[in-house]
Amino acid sequence: MHTISSSVINRRQALKTIGAGVALTSMVAFTGQTLAAKPATKPMANSTETPSSPISAWDLPKLAFEYDALEPHIDTLTMQLHHSKHHQTYITNAKKLLEAHPDWRNRTPDFILKNIETVPEVIRAGLRNNVGGHVNHSFFWTTLAPNAGGVAGNTIGEAITANFGSFGEFQKQFTDAAMKRFGSGWAWLVAQDGKLAITSTANQDSPLSTGGTPLLGLDVWEHAYYLHYQNRRADYIAAFWNVVNWSQVDAYHQATL
Ligand code: MN
Repeated sequence: MHTISSSVINRRQALKTIGAGVALTSMVAFTGQTLAAKPATKPMANSTETPSSPISAWDLPKLAFEYDALEPHIDTLTMQLHHSKHHQTYITNAKKLLEAHPDWRNRTPDFILKNIETVPEVIRAGLRNNVGGHVNHSFFWTTLAPNAGGVAGNTIGEAITANFGSFGEFQKQFTDAAMKRFGSGWAWLVAQDGKLAITSTANQDSPLSTGGTPLLGLDVWEHAYYLHYQNRRADYIAAFWNVVNWSQVDAYHQATL
């Protein structure tokens, strides 16, 4: 869908079929858990890290809000497709790749990304893309909320001011990173080496793979905004500031202190 007219057709077609997808999604017994790892029961050899993950870590996480809750900033159809189709596809693909690698299948998605260079080469690129897609999106959903946005407060607000000079300067730099990410990828606010930094990654690469801890991320793949904003990435980024769940970002930040 590279023109406005074809995106309208696709939107209509999608609206006709989305009902089935939503019904199916709501039938799945969600646990509500995201990516939290449980204690290991069988530690792997040569590793001191917690390896075991609950099965739910490989499920599509339930959103904390309805698909239409972020209107008008992020539209309902984009949320439906983005969560139930795009995100689900990353999970499906990752599980398929891991079928023949049960030792890695028992790891948490986060662990795989943090140790991506030690993943067998035959599945490394696939996991980088698809586990990355799963982890990035699972994280992204938690940092969005209706009736949110505004200026960050609490500890994260203080840290942003300390690191960037002002909240406005932070917003400017983050927006710049999101605008300059060529093609598909993400803009990030990360905690790394004891301070905050703004970065961006291509495709589904995760800051976890380079030692960073994501605090806020913005998906700038066209699938994240094209139906509503078409080519206007700047408008999508501006709208994003109205749905940032700063209290969750604050919690992620505090966990790094
Ligand atoms: Mn996406």
